[in-house]
Amino acid sequence: MKIEIDLLTCKDFGECALSAPKIFKMDESGKQSLRLNTTASKVVFDVLEEERNSAEEAVIVCPMQALAIQ
Ligand code: SF4
Repeated sequence: MKIEIDLLTCKDFGECALSAPKIFKMDESGKQSLRLNTTASKVVFDVLEEERNSAEEAVIVCPMQALAIQ
């Protein structure tokens, strides 16, 4: 499965990292760590099938609706 994050919409609240810590992490400054590797506004990446439940929970809890499963 793949998950998409809209980094323009994301406001670094960090709920995704609490719900799916193996998928999302916050960096030392409290920013979504996926920002470190790109200047793109959207990032799509593979997630292990065994992490599906965590990924789905992150999509639900994100207050900005910045996440989508593809
Ligand atoms: S929960 Fe949503 S707004 Fe918060 S860091 Fe994750 S993707 Fe960004």
